[in-house]
Amino acid sequence: MCGVIGIIGNEPVCKDLVRGLHALQHRGIQSSGMISYSSVEQQFSPPIRGTGSSTEVFRSDQGSSRDNVAIGHNRYATSGDDASRDAQPIYIQRPGLAIAHNGQIANYTSLRRKLEMLGSYSFFTNCDVETLLFALAQNLILKKSHQATDTSSFVREKLFPALKITMDSQEEYSATGSYSIVAIIANHGLLAFKDPHGVRPLSFARKDQGGIVQYAFASETTAFHFLKGFQDFQELSPGEAIFVDFNLQVYSDKIYPQQEKFCPFEIVYFAQVDSELRGQKVYDARYKLGRSIASAFSHLKDRVDAVMPVPKSPIPAAIALAKEWRKPYGGIVPRPSHSPIRAFQQEARRRKQSIDDKLIFIRSHINRKKIGLVDDSVVRGETSKEVVSKLYDLGAEEVHLFLTFPPYIGICAGGIDTPLQEELLLNGNGKEDIEQARKFIGSTTLNFLPSKQMLRAVNLTPETACLGCTQKKYPFDMSGYSEFQALRKKHRVKACDG
Ligand code: AMP
Repeated sequence: MCGVIGIIGNEPVCKDLVRGLHALQHRGIQSSGMISYSSVEQQFSPPIRGTGSSTEVFRSDQGSSRDNVAIGHNRYATSGDDASRDAQPIYIQRPGLAIAHNGQIANYTSLRRKLEMLGSYSFFTNCDVETLLFALAQNLILKKSHQATDTSSFVREKLFPALKITMDSQEEYSATGSYSIVAIIANHGLLAFKDPHGVRPLSFARKDQGGIVQYAFASETTAFHFLKGFQDFQELSPGEAIFVDFNLQVYSDKIYPQQEKFCPFEIVYFAQVDSELRGQKVYDARYKLGRSIASAFSHLKDRVDAVMPVPKSPIPAAIALAKEWRKPYGGIVPRPSHSPIRAFQQEARRRKQSIDDKLIFIRSHINRKKIGLVDDSVVRGETSKEVVSKLYDLGAEEVHLFLTFPPYIGICAGGIDTPLQEELLLNGNGKEDIEQARKFIGSTTLNFLPSKQMLRAVNLTPETACLGCTQKKYPFDMSGYSEFQALRKKHRVKACDG
């Protein structure tokens, strides 16, 4: 789950783009990068890319002071093995095309093989989006019979039809999986599109303030709030593409729409709390999750003395639960000096230590109390185990763990870095599976909000949500995925050895 952003305007945009990347830092810190283009000079500036967070990468260089379109990327890797080489945006000279991606190309290995056989594309990275970039380039070439002289006919007659081929899994050079993309097309403008199921978020907004006009795309609207002045937020729909040219004319088309399969984990856990996804405020959705927990587990109300979240995603849910049950709230707070790095963004061996690094436990709120602990999810269970054990160390009598997300039982093939079944604590959501997980975590009770209630709270349904990790039901063809898993395993081992 990476963060992408793209801005086009009537003034230079790089400074704003870098600030937007900082606002999306919670989506990935393995690498960060930007590429920009000047419509006057008709050329790209050299990309700025590096390992680490956007604040590290853009410490001294904020990019060109002249370019009026730029795209940026914060990386959270779900493919590849070299953070420096695999940093995005990536770009090719012919046709001048730069691209930044959030999601995961599920048919990466087979698509790469097909493109390599053409002999015209050299792969420089192990990053899955490189296949989509080359597939789109190839499909644009196949559409060359159309005389697209001006931007308007280029977009309607060449670009959008080429995108349709890239999205259609029946076609030779098509990408399956999840992709929310921003791209610069030399000589033409800024493009954004979502895969046919719209698995990952991507929003569009406009700013018109004091003579400065900008159009922007971002993984989350938190970037628009941070940059200020943006309005008319609009989530792209599944399979939709929006293009903005250098005259700031907007073209949009529902290129290849299929049944929506939005990722609920984005709303429950991943997104920044002030974002709006699919028009819904993340804070409100998480608050509703807390209310749903209160009613689903009302039989435990009298066994809990105090409610506390494992900061930060479940805070609104814990506030709601405490309010519904009329219990004191709080006892664990984030360490103020702590960096924006979240536990999952660290290597496994550092995660354990990070609990004390990142959280302050208030002994007087915990000692001799029965704690209602609220977290979003259990993936490997390491964090929950650590927090529960810390609460017992501080004198808790019982710890009842409430999760706003149902058991995470299936690998993700759409952009969350959980590619291997053996790394998940739960393999099923039966009573025995949950009891086994409870024993591992060490809590008194372990209570997952059922899928139905979770989906209702986040304004999704079993039809509109991706059910990969909660029910092992995937929205796209998974037949070639085992090859990708094997590759991921190899890359992980390599990364650990290094
Ligand atoms: P765990 O210790 O693996 O159970 O997870 C601790 C926290 O990190 C939970 O809030 C999980 O939702 C989150 N988490 C775990 N693994 C990942 C991952 N690969 N990507 C994103 N979030 C994760």
